[in-house]
Amino acid sequence: MPTLVMKFGGTSVANLDRIARAAKRVAVEVANGYDVIVIVSAMSGKTNELVGWVSETSPLYDAHEYDAIVSSGENVTAGLMALRLQEMDIPARSWQGWQVPVLTTDAHASARIEEIPTKNITAKFGEGMKVAVVAGFQGVSAAGRITTLGRGGSDTTAVAFAAAFGAERCDIYTDVDGVYTTDPRITSKARKLDKISFEEMLELASLGAKVLQTRSVELAMRYKVRLRVLSSFEEPSDSAGTLVCDEEEIMESNVVAGVAYSRDEAKMTLISVADRPGIAAAIFGPLSDAGVNVDMIVQNISEEGRTDMTFSCPKDQVLRAEKAMNDAKTSGAINFHDLVADEGVAKVSVVGIGMRSHTGVAAKMFKVLSAEGINIKVITTSEIKISVLIDRKYMELAVQALHDAFELDKAG
Ligand code: ADP
Ligand code: ASP
Ligand code: MG
Repeated sequence: MPTLVMKFGGTSVANLDRIARAAKRVAVEVANGYDVIVIVSAMSGKTNELVGWVSETSPLYDAHEYDAIVSSGENVTAGLMALRLQEMDIPARSWQGWQVPVLTTDAHASARIEEIPTKNITAKFGEGMKVAVVAGFQGVSAAGRITTLGRGGSDTTAVAFAAAFGAERCDIYTDVDGVYTTDPRITSKARKLDKISFEEMLELASLGAKVLQTRSVELAMRYKVRLRVLSSFEEPSDSAGTLVCDEEEIMESNVVAGVAYSRDEAKMTLISVADRPGIAAAIFGPLSDAGVNVDMIVQNISEEGRTDMTFSCPKDQVLRAEKAMNDAKTSGAINFHDLVADEGVAKVSVVGIGMRSHTGVAAKMFKVLSAEGINIKVITTSEIKISVLIDRKYMELAVQALHDAFELDKAG
């Protein structure tokens, strides 16, 4: 039997009615002749609630316990989905990550899947089971501890299962009907794309477009998984949603494919550090050891042997970053005058493979932002993207202005 992976995100399993609705969609694919692997997220809002409980109990929490707690939302929806399917006379059972087992690294809260042995689930399909419902987002480390794959990680579970089982397709059901030129919640002019290249999707995802988790796109690209994003609220059709595929499969292309944003960033500046060889390693080593995901970095020109070092990281890691820097100062590894955190910034990025062959995108971006009176705090670029850090209060305005300026509402 061919296998299909269907993933339902938080809003698609937000209550019992939605779970029933998703189960009906699964039943259609079972009737189409597929063995189906369903990956579920927690009910929407649940994971945030669990994360909140963890932080309230222990601000610098132990990541092992964080994972034990925040993975639990998916266990509930997996069981409920299996029960709902059984009520429809479809042979189904639930699997938690450790039961499969989904084997991961021990990088708690951001673990990577290393292997998914297919034996157990395949055996059940052989015995007549039609649907394996798997709790997304979670796995188990070699030490036997529960791990999670980072926020939005159920997408990655889905693609990893599609790769492991050689699924015909991996359908990601969500609350929008595909991938748009930017988040449709920010501008009604956002346009749905029928297709998007793996590379552009990878950049958009890593720059904040949370419609797919970055790692899921990486895996789909590596293992050639046919990945489709579609709405669980609309009637499905073969052409529904957005197909994430190779560049060669795409005819239309704009220089800029999309605009992404990341709302909850922080900018941290170490004032007056010694400008000497090894200083960057002395700063960013401890930050990395503390689990801080440093993104942009700027080092100012030095004066009299001292300089300011600025970096950005997710806002919820500021506490960890401050502790790591203060500890490094106490131990004498680094010396700085002051550490200033600006928690009111956001990152806005434009992405497009067309940038490889077209110049002037950066200049146009900066002009558009300046025309809106938006000050740029930090800039980074790569071959196919340009990112800027700005005051969070201007984030929506920046996204809308860039979307207009690059005419993303029109197909290229
Ligand atoms: P799920 O719970 O189904 O995993 P998510 O909330 O993680 O859903 O992802 C879907 C959301 O991603 C959409 O509701 C939308 O607001 C947001 N989003 C951000 N950028 C984009 C984009 N370029 N295209 C589509 N959706 C986007
Ligand atoms: N429930 C997890 C989260 O909210 C994983 C997911 O939904 O993909 O991040
Ligand atoms: Mg998601």
